[in-house]
Amino acid sequence: MANSKYAYVRNFELPDPLLPGTFILFRLDGHSFHRFADKHKFTKPNDVRALELMDHAAKDVVEEYPDIVLAFGESDEFSFLLRKSTTLYNRRQSKIVSTLTSLFTSCYVFHWPKYFPDTPLQYPPSFDGRIVLYPTEKHVRDYFAWRQADTHINNLYNTTFWALVQQGGQTTTEAHAALRGTLSKEKHEILFSRFDINYNDIDARYRKGSVLFREEIPEDPQGGTNPSSGHKSIVIEKRPSKTEEKTESSVTNEAQGEALPTEGAT
Ligand code: ATP
Ligand code: ATP
Ligand code: MG
Ligand code: MG
Ligand code: MG
Ligand code: MG
Ligand code: MG
Repeated sequence: MANSKYAYVRNFELPDPLLPGTFILFRLDGHSFHRFADKHKFTKPNDVRALELMDHAAKDVVEEYPDIVLAFGESDEFSFLLRKSTTLYNRRQSKIVSTLTSLFTSCYVFHWPKYFPDTPLQYPPSFDGRIVLYPTEKHVRDYFAWRQADTHINNLYNTTFWALVQQGGQTTTEAHAALRGTLSKEKHEILFSRFDINYNDIDARYRKGSVLFREEIPEDPQGGTNPSSGHKSIVIEKRPSKTEEKTESSVTNEAQGEALPTEGAT
């Protein structure tokens, strides 16, 4: 075989299996979306078109991979939880990361015109992807609580920051300076006393992110033909259900004392 003397190079490809019996958490994040948001004139603090496009791309990924049981999105990122027992691509790490990141990215581009009909793409966006393994349900719960606390912290900061700029007439430098070192309570107070904004009235999507989960469609008890019987559908939950609200309240408590956002506004 003409190829055989070269075939040994294949042995340099090392296997990268993910530990069995652990939860696979896959997260992707837009590459340099600060710049991407600028170039495509995202509205501040939250461009709802961009968030809906993220949700749509995530929904496509969830539909394509039945082993994804839960997804959570905020800003330019999405997290996907895979079943502990998944054998997707024999649990090969780079195969899963690259394929899911690539599918999400192409769906984002594919659906772009639907959400931004008047804004042509200026250049091709890209996303990074990574996998973290978690051994227990507590880790998984804490993971999602961590991402949702991040959503809350960033949104409170960004909402206050842009109120100071857009309604308060401050420059971005002045607004950054005004918010440096402030606690949640003080940001709530600025919003309420100066701009008549009750933070808790802001759309839950902005404060808490979006959650995608599968909804089981129960078998028809009469044994009749239910066209969707045995199928699963995907629901995009914007207002958290009671269980999520439980998570949210503990999250909010943990986030109370923070001073700094993990991502800068602007
Ligand atoms: P990196 O490549 O390290 O992720 P980044 O510029 O993407 O860099 P992030 O921390 O991921 O940094 O922050 C994403 C940024 O994208 C936000 O700070 C915000 O400026 C912008 N952005 C993303 N989604 C939206 C949105 N829906 N509305 C307004 N701005 C957004
Ligand atoms: P995996 O998901 O594991 O990569 P695969 O089916 O994509 O599975 P590859 O080893 O990547 O397997 O092989 C790609 C296959 O795609 C080729 O065997 C060939 O059949 C087909 N293919 C790719 N590019 C072309 C092309 N330009 N013309 C015809 N066939 C192509
Ligand atoms: Mg980042
Ligand atoms: Mg990013
Ligand atoms: Mg991000
Ligand atoms: Mg190939
Ligand atoms: Mg291939």
